[in-house]
Amino acid sequence: MDIAGVDNAVVAEVEREASELLSALIQIDTSNPPGDETKVAEFMAAWFAERGVDGGQIVGEPEHRRSFVLRLESGRPGPSLLLLAHEDVVPANAPDWQVPPFSGLIRDGYVWGRGAVDIKNLVAAHAVAAARIARAGGPAAGTLVYACTADEEEGSVGGARWLVANRPDLVRTDYVINEGGGHFLERAGRRVYLLESGEKGTAQFRITVKGEAGHASVPLRSGNAVIAAARVVEALVSHRLPLVIDGSSEDLVRLLVDSPALRERLRDPKTARDALVDLARRDVQLADMIEPLYGFAFSPTIVASNSVAVNVYPTQVEVSVDCRMLAGHDEQEVLTEVRTALDGVEADWDLVWIGPVVRGNSSPYPSALSAAIRGTLRRFVPEAELANSHSVGFTDSNWFRAAFPDTIAYNFAPHLVEGYDEVTPRYHNVDERILVRDLAFQALFAESVAREVLSRP
Ligand SMILES: [Zn+2]
Repeated sequence: MDIAGVDNAVVAEVEREASELLSALIQIDTSNPPGDETKVAEFMAAWFAERGVDGGQIVGEPEHRRSFVLRLESGRPGPSLLLLAHEDVVPANAPDWQVPPFSGLIRDGYVWGRGAVDIKNLVAAHAVAAARIARAGGPAAGTLVYACTADEEEGSVGGARWLVANRPDLVRTDYVINEGGGHFLERAGRRVYLLESGEKGTAQFRITVKGEAGHASVPLRSGNAVIAAARVVEALVSHRLPLVIDGSSEDLVRLLVDSPALRERLRDPKTARDALVDLARRDVQLADMIEPLYGFAFSPTIVASNSVAVNVYPTQVEVSVDCRMLAGHDEQEVLTEVRTALDGVEADWDLVWIGPVVRGNSSPYPSALSAAIRGTLRRFVPEAELANSHSVGFTDSNWFRAAFPDTIAYNFAPHLVEGYDEVTPRYHNVDERILVRDLAFQALFAESVAREVLSRP
């Protein structure tokens, strides 16, 4: 598939440069844990230096988990844009793969290996974009910042979080483009690209249900923690949680749901819950995408009793529940809903949060950045439509929005040839790979958006 308006020789050159870089990056094993991302930071510093682009810095701590940041200043007033991606990858179990996961093999039009779509592809594509802009004399106005950062997958030591806290002088910008969105879906004759302007937060919790110990040969007339825990699970999942219909799902419903009647029902809080059930019958993938944006849900995942023998009643049973909050909502609401759900339920329970509670956040949409993204997309893919949505997972954009309230951060790394169905199952999976053409498209796209954003004061 051609990239509209770009000379074939340029496409071929970008394909070569980006795929060689991605292949080399994949061969640097940054499985997290332990990460060891400094190897990628050093590699990128050398890669830019070889191209005559100096001024990059290797920053962060601890020493083996550092990030790389490069600033290209135009010397003229104007906005600032950060192209962001992370250096670490999730581990890979080699025997399950068709190719060695850290080979960076280029075969059948793909670059193969761990990180090929999450997200060393973007480390490479953004680097090629920044280098092309630098070689052409730098941005016309403002500042272009390139960063590849440590520790996104585990988020335990820092990376982006460390940078926003310790080096705002390097990474605070007006705009951020990061991993996450950019996949396209085809529905109702449309090609719709998903831009993520926000992210849900996490408030996972564990409910401990207390019971009475005893020998199970004797009937326990009350106080069996297993039975009480079953009541808790049932009450949580049957509780009607409040519906939220906001800008995070609006475009998805408007552009991707083909039936006008169903669209109407999905927009009305009185009918939306049943409409989601109907949508799941027609198009389960779309329902899975839209439903998490209608509020939070309680998803029990682990039930564990402390009894070590089948003939002993437990003194406690723990129920662990996954719960994701929409941007702008907090754990207090979750707690209120748990209390309401369990009101009157026969169980002696208490609740603790599992790990840190992370609130979701979002950036305003539309904005000058979304206009530049839409304009560039239409130029390269004339039939493309852009849809605003929020990620149900977590990315480093969250740290930037939380630390710098004026920064607009979007997740957008578009593919040209392969759509959502083909690309997203490869995340954290075996045989991770990206089409060389899609990789080059990401580089050309980032270059074009950066030029547009930084074209004038
Ligand atoms: Zn990622």
